[in-house]
Amino acid sequence: MAATANRLRDDTCERDWIWEREIEAAPWEETRRLSVGAWERQFRRLRESSPFYARKWREAGVGSSFVSLADLSALPFTTKEELKGALDEDPPFGANLCVAPEQVKRVYQTSGTSGAPSVLGLTRGDMETWTVMGTRTYYATGIHEHSSVLTTFGAGPFVAGHTHFVLLRIGSRSIPVAPGDTERVVFGLRAGLADTLLCTASFAQYLANRSPSPASAGEGRGEGRSSLTHVVTGGEPGGGIPEIRDHIQRVLGVTVTEVMGIGDVAPSLFGECPHQQGMHFCGAGHVWVELIDPESREPMEIETGAVGELVYTALTREAMPVVRFLGGDIVRIEGTSCECERTSFRMRVLGRRDDMFIVRGVNVYPTAILSVVGEFRPRVTGRARVVRVGSDTSVEPPIPIEVEVTERHGSDNALISEIENAIHAKLTFRGKVSLVSEADFGEAGYKTRLTRNAPLPSRGEG
Ligand SMILES: [Zn+2]
Repeated sequence: MAATANRLRDDTCERDWIWEREIEAAPWEETRRLSVGAWERQFRRLRESSPFYARKWREAGVGSSFVSLADLSALPFTTKEELKGALDEDPPFGANLCVAPEQVKRVYQTSGTSGAPSVLGLTRGDMETWTVMGTRTYYATGIHEHSSVLTTFGAGPFVAGHTHFVLLRIGSRSIPVAPGDTERVVFGLRAGLADTLLCTASFAQYLANRSPSPASAGEGRGEGRSSLTHVVTGGEPGGGIPEIRDHIQRVLGVTVTEVMGIGDVAPSLFGECPHQQGMHFCGAGHVWVELIDPESREPMEIETGAVGELVYTALTREAMPVVRFLGGDIVRIEGTSCECERTSFRMRVLGRRDDMFIVRGVNVYPTAILSVVGEFRPRVTGRARVVRVGSDTSVEPPIPIEVEVTERHGSDNALISEIENAIHAKLTFRGKVSLVSEADFGEAGYKTRLTRNAPLPSRGEG
C-alpha cells in the first residue's frame, strides 16, 4: 500500500500536484481577502436580484445596511425546505433565481430526500466555477493528466455528472460507465482500460467482496490482476471509515481517497490528497464555509479536532446562490495544514445530521456502526443500516440494526450475538441485529442509506 501511496504522492513531475497553487496554497489571510471582496458583490446582487433573499433578510430584520463576511452570522440560515418552497412559489426555477431565465444554460435535478426533485439552474459562469472547484478537488485526489479514469458517476440528471467536465479539464482519459454496471466495470479494469475508479464506497466494497482473496488465487489476481491502483469514493462517507477503506485497499490493492460535494452548493467541493488525512476544502474564493455547533447552531472555530455542521455561502454563484446553507453533514476538522502544502482545512464526515440519534445522552452516527460491523468480513458484506422507529432523535436501546450478509450466513445466530456483543463493547449501547441478504438489502451501485424508517409498532411491542 505504501508503495502505491508514494507513487501517487511522487507523481509530480508533469507540472505541479496542486491545480491552482496561487489559491490553494495561499496564506489564509489572502483567501479571506479574496472572499471578502466576492461577498461584497454577491450581497448587493442578492438584495437587488433575488426576491427570495431580499424578503428573507427583510423579515429577519436585516435592514438596508451591508452585512460583511465577518458578520455573516447576523444573516439567517437557508434550509433545503426553504429552497424547495422558493421553487414551488415561482416555477420552473424558483424565487431564488437571480438572473434572467434565458441565462440558465444547464439544469440538474437533485434526487431530493422526499417528494418531487429539486431543480438547479446554472449559468455559463456557474458551470465554469463548478468545473474549477471540481478540478481542484479531483486533482487533489491524485487524478492527473496521465490517469485513466473509469467513472460510474452518471452523466445526468444528477450533479455528479458534472465530473465529466472536470476530467476533461484535467486532461485525463475518461471511461464512463453507468452507475452499478458491474459487468462493464470489471471488464474495463481487467482489460487494463483504467487505473482509477470513481464510485460510491458501497460499490467499491461490493467489488472488493467479489474479488477472489489472495489465498484462493486464480482469475483476477496474480498475472491476471486488474490495472487498478486508485479508487476515489464519493456520494457517501464510507471511503473515510478506516475499516471500510482498509478492506478496499487490501483486497483490491489500491489507494483510496475520497471526495465530497453538496448538490445545492457544488458537486465536488472537498478532495482528499494522497496523504490520506481527510478531505481538503477546494472551494476557496467561490464558497465560504462556516462551522456551527450542531445543537445550538452557534459559530465555531475551524480548528483541529472541532466537530460541527458545515454551512455554505456561494460567493460567486450567479443563478441560484445560497447564503448560510445548512448542508446537514457533521464533520470533524482533521487539520488546517498538510504536507501537500494546501492551506485549506481537512475534514472527515461523521454522518448526516438527519441520521444521527441519541442513546442515553450520547450522539451516535450510523457510520460508527459500520466500523464495528466491518470487522466481521467475510461473513458480512460491510453494509449495515439503523432501523428508525418514529421520528424521535432520542432512542431507547436495543437499537434495531440490519446487517447485510452473504447468502451462506443468512440465519447465523452465532454471528448475530457476536456483532451485538461487539456493538455493546465498542459503542456502549445494545443493538438488536438482524441479518439481511444481499438480494434484500438493495442496489450497491448507488448510495446506501444508513437509516431506514420502520412503521411505529403497535402498543405493547418491544
Ligand atoms: Zn493534503
